[in-house]
Amino acid sequence: MPNEFFAKPVQYLKMVGQRRASALQKLGIATVKDLLYHFPRRYDDRTVLRPAWACAQGEVATVGGTVLAAQDLKPRRGLTITKLALHDGSGTFYAVWFNQPFIKKNLPPGTRVFVTGKVEKGYGAVTVAVEEYEADDGRDRLSTGRLVPVYPLAGRLTQRMLRAMVKSALDEAKGKEADFLPESLLKKFNLPCLGTALSAVHFPQNMEEAGAARRRFIFEELFLFQLALAMRRKDISGRRKLHTYLPEGKLTQAFKSSLPYRLTGEQEKVWKEISNDMDSPVPMHRLLQGDVGAGKTVISTLALLKAVESGLQGALMAPTEILAEQHYLGMRNYLGPIGVEAGLLTGGTGRKKRKELLERIRSGDLKLVVGTHALLQEGVDFKNLGLVVVDEQHRFGVRQRATLQNKGLYPDTLVMTATPIPRTMAMTLYGDLDISIINGLPPGRQPVKTYAVVPAALPKAYHLVREQVRRGRQAYIVCPLVEESEKVDLEAAVELAEKLAAGEFRDCRLGLLHGQMKAEEKDKVMTSFRQGEIQILVTTTVIEVGVDVPNATVMIILDADRFGLAQLHQLRGRVGRGSHQSYCILVADPKTEEGRARLKAMVRISDGFALAEEDLRLRGPGEFCGTRQSGLPEFKIADLLRDWKVLQAARQEALAWVEEDPHLKNPVSRMLADEIRARFEGTGSYIGVG
Ligand code: ADP
Ligand code: MG
Repeated sequence: MPNEFFAKPVQYLKMVGQRRASALQKLGIATVKDLLYHFPRRYDDRTVLRPAWACAQGEVATVGGTVLAAQDLKPRRGLTITKLALHDGSGTFYAVWFNQPFIKKNLPPGTRVFVTGKVEKGYGAVTVAVEEYEADDGRDRLSTGRLVPVYPLAGRLTQRMLRAMVKSALDEAKGKEADFLPESLLKKFNLPCLGTALSAVHFPQNMEEAGAARRRFIFEELFLFQLALAMRRKDISGRRKLHTYLPEGKLTQAFKSSLPYRLTGEQEKVWKEISNDMDSPVPMHRLLQGDVGAGKTVISTLALLKAVESGLQGALMAPTEILAEQHYLGMRNYLGPIGVEAGLLTGGTGRKKRKELLERIRSGDLKLVVGTHALLQEGVDFKNLGLVVVDEQHRFGVRQRATLQNKGLYPDTLVMTATPIPRTMAMTLYGDLDISIINGLPPGRQPVKTYAVVPAALPKAYHLVREQVRRGRQAYIVCPLVEESEKVDLEAAVELAEKLAAGEFRDCRLGLLHGQMKAEEKDKVMTSFRQGEIQILVTTTVIEVGVDVPNATVMIILDADRFGLAQLHQLRGRVGRGSHQSYCILVADPKTEEGRARLKAMVRISDGFALAEEDLRLRGPGEFCGTRQSGLPEFKIADLLRDWKVLQAARQEALAWVEEDPHLKNPVSRMLADEIRARFEGTGSYIGVG
């Protein structure tokens, strides 16, 4: 960016010393630009402050007054209410704080103060339950008589300090803010230029101005994101790979005919798309989407086999040891008989074994490698890596995928996910990938019968488990495990297993599986579950993704309201994988409306895409499309759900722009390119690697 001023560390500003700089650091603010891009959370309308009596019951309002007196009330143990009487020129009102006794000291009588909170009217008095307050020294024009920005805070920073810092940065920036967004786009979408937008987003004259400024920053954020994706795509399509594949040979045919089923039309379709990519001189960069249980594994095996058959190496990475092991076993089963050997490398692989594996991977003697994150480590070097497959890709960061890709020279890359993002959305968000979708499930599957029950109905659920076990089927009992209290939860799971083994399921073979177990122990338990020795598996979410035991027909999920919809859907996907009728019992006593709605949705809907839409409706892009689960970028001001239309427009513009000027070489483009580099490079964020 030509704006040197913007790139300066915040300390450069007169108002910012060492102390404040380190508080700003906590907000992710290092440069002047970061400070200017620290947008207000909302605006308080203090243009004309109403007297307290004029506020409506229940509304959230900001009112100002002078402290008359203070009082602490202790209605019961552990609760202190601090009540201030305030005068606002026309009368007296009250402001209350809960368990913040220091308020009295901060706001002695005579102080002028603004309080924001919910207004309660009763018995002739007006009371504000304070969410936020600000002392007013009467001199600070930034905090009175206008629309006042309210910022996210950290450390000892106050709203006033931030306002003052931002204001001084704005004053100094005046005239220096060269806009990197092309004027043609600003015109087309009627957006303010950078300088105008920056002052309006912080200190707007009115809400329209604030709105226009925010629209600009939303567009800016999404446009730059789409432009980066489009460029990356261009970049990839300009590469030429150094390896080639042979036409489908005996191995592939032998594998196909050893399968106990025929590929569905949908599977054939995506396989054609994938093998076409592999045969093309441009490296494949493809996402394979398909609901839980759709049969993605077999497709990835075909691709890996194609590599092996052509004398190349293939690697498959999965997010958990259990899943990696399962893939490995599956390959041993199907590929062993046709003479293709696979190796398994996880964190649990012993030193000696590991050394031997690494040796064979390096020499190219071992063609197929399955593993976890362990594949990413230094020392894992391939001789001629042709294909990289990443299963459950939303569990990995972009960096990790790139690390694996970099173990070869432009290898083909296939990433797989069951995250059912609607197609249009996927195209827009994963704009640098081609997408293949397996629609529907293999034939013969019956929808899993799902019930939501209260804890009192557990005995009935256990009865169902016993009955299924008697018929030769198997069951999962899932206890929630949240990271914050892993230990406590784990104890709960262990205890539950013991209790059930001694009680309800005395006469059944019970197993326990959780994330804290050593790799070998996990393998042992999974193997005996797979072989049917263990009939009932008490487990945590370690089985959430990928696990495939078609004979399991019941899943009981305890405290089901503690899981998100995406997670529930994944968990439920562990049953209903064979031809037998399967059941999923969600046991919970949901405390929130949303919790209830989630369980209802699970009962009603079995299709992953429909559930994703329901999740969108319930709480925004949330878990299905949110950053945490799907490795999508985190936006500062844009909101994928709310700004969906803008995102689409931004994509159109970005594609057109790159079409026009593929290498961003003209002067206008160059400013854009600089900005993209500044935003995405070296940050480990969504783009800029791989
Ligand atoms: P996912 O897409 O969730 O990874 P999997 O690949 O684990 O699903 O497949 C789920 C189950 O479906 C497996 O037991 C697999 O053997 C079976 N399967 C896959 N393709 C077919 C098919 N065409 N017909 C019948 N069963 C299939
Ligand atoms: Mg899978």
